[in-house]
Amino acid sequence: MKYGHIIDEDKIIDEVIVSYFKEPKSYTTENMCEINSHGGVLIVKKILEICLKNGAKLAEPGEFTKKAFLNGRIDLIQAESVIDIINAKSEKEVKTGINQLEGFLSNKLKEIKEDILDVMVKIDVNIDYPEYDVEEIEKQEIHSMLLNVKEKLKKLEKSFDSGKILKEGIKTAIIGTPNAGKSSLLNAILREDRAIVTEYEGTTRDTIEEFVSINGIPLKLIDTAGIRNAKDEVEKIGIEKAKKIAQEADLIIAIFDGAKDWKKDDYLILNMVKGKKSIVLLNKIDIAKDIENKERVLRKYSNNVIKISALHKIGIEEISDYIKKLFEEEEINLDNEIIVTNIRQKNLMQQAIQNLSEAENTLLNNMPIDIIAIFINKMLENLGEITGDSPSEEIINEIFSKFCLGK
Ligand code: GDP
Repeated sequence: MKYGHIIDEDKIIDEVIVSYFKEPKSYTTENMCEINSHGGVLIVKKILEICLKNGAKLAEPGEFTKKAFLNGRIDLIQAESVIDIINAKSEKEVKTGINQLEGFLSNKLKEIKEDILDVMVKIDVNIDYPEYDVEEIEKQEIHSMLLNVKEKLKKLEKSFDSGKILKEGIKTAIIGTPNAGKSSLLNAILREDRAIVTEYEGTTRDTIEEFVSINGIPLKLIDTAGIRNAKDEVEKIGIEKAKKIAQEADLIIAIFDGAKDWKKDDYLILNMVKGKKSIVLLNKIDIAKDIENKERVLRKYSNNVIKISALHKIGIEEISDYIKKLFEEEEINLDNEIIVTNIRQKNLMQQAIQNLSEAENTLLNNMPIDIIAIFINKMLENLGEITGDSPSEEIINEIFSKFCLGK
């Protein structure tokens, strides 16, 4: 590292530190240097201009990571994890990205490929030297390899569902009749749990979706911003709209006013939770009437009924415990797991599983061993494509075009 100044036309532009990375020990494995200047848009822009004026070339999106990949320092999974880390919205997402960058998934796939290759080598010997008296490979051995690999691949493929939730959040709709306490609930959740909120455009033009992380559980709240911000909007949200929102959701939080007698609309809302993952809240317990009866009614529709006061923040922390319980087994048990978050990787895994099934069928139908070998080889190719053993230019360009500039 050298301390010095950036000078342009005899004028000092900034005081900087320049780090020099000698090949191959750099991000790209090539000679590199990094300039640390003072922060701020203007000064950085000025230094960039000076570099360009003196012969530097601006990097394409993803060019650094692409070079790291093409020069063999990282594989394709690791390159893709760099994008995931940059775009991560929750800590768990970052952690998964880092794990992949560290090679967790790559190593797992390497292990699977080695299992396959161990058997494939023997098959090849059998095919290539039939005239020699080589020991014939037992079909049993091929079969147990296939079963073992299938189990591992299926587990990885299934992890995509968790990955999806991790990336996109559990699609959650908060529904209830006007004045039931939706806005108060949202405020209570956001404040109590110091949730991280990221607003972004919803999938339809009139909905807004928010990403909220409650006790590490990522939720994508549908249309809640509209409900929260504009009081009039509440009145506009009719049953039809609530229905539509409920249909789209992975999780419904239905909230009922404990202080008033329920009308037809309340029962319509209650009917929407049927057959859905849901949490039903009996709100305003501080002023509620006839609590036991109301609770009994709610329990007929859902096993997850919680008595709360959104205004006084009673029972709020129980909500995240319930969500955890609802999604734990299948989807949000994310710690220390290898998770596939990438659709390209998942599709290739599915293709590998497909070819594996073909190999299995061929084997069970007593077909010749070279036919089985064809499917096993295809499966190896699919797995190789995930890590990018011999990728096409098209795929490389597609992947790196998703990068932001300069990384
Ligand atoms: P929304 O129309 O469903 O969004 O309902 P709001 O959250 O705007 O609440 C409607 C009214 O009920 C407001 O005056 C709130 O202060 C009140 N409210 C909400 N939750 C409670 C509660 O737990 N106890 C009491 N006493 N009032 C509440």
